[in-house]
Amino acid sequence: MDYIRQLEASGHLADTQINSTNSSSTCFLCDAVAGQGNREHARQRLVLQNDERGIILLNRYPYTNGHLLIAPIEHVMELSDLESTQRAGLFDLVALSEQLLHAGLNPQGMNIGINLGRCAGAGLPGHLHVHVVPRWSGDTNFMQTIGQVRVIPQSLEASYEQLAAALTRL
Ligand SMILES: [Zn+2]
Repeated sequence: MDYIRQLEASGHLADTQINSTNSSSTCFLCDAVAGQGNREHARQRLVLQNDERGIILLNRYPYTNGHLLIAPIEHVMELSDLESTQRAGLFDLVALSEQLLHAGLNPQGMNIGINLGRCAGAGLPGHLHVHVVPRWSGDTNFMQTIGQVRVIPQSLEASYEQLAAALTRL
């Protein structure tokens, strides 16, 4: 609930609010895609990679440090809405994210998954995205004990710089 309230209060994710539409005009992923080639636009939106296959960005409301979102350029809801080559491109970026986290944060494991629809946990049901979450043994206890959302913004900047630097080495 803390997570959901934070989304609604922040106004960053306008289309997580009840009764709103899921149009691309209010979609933060489409907004991130639109900044291709603009470094400042990318930095403000925590976008690490933006190319013809889609985008990789840091989740502003992460489960843990280095929680990445990977989305196609197209504002579509489900995997089956993409052409085969678009799906291949999306999963190339998922594989790149896996490499990037290994290089940048050296996690002990990862969770990779997709939530389809709000009841499955999608905060943004209108635009398909893949979560890649780095894991360290004991991180759940860590998050439950002190991992409130308010501690996250400080580490986001640091995570972004760390991963952006790691990406240039891949
Ligand atoms: Zn979108």
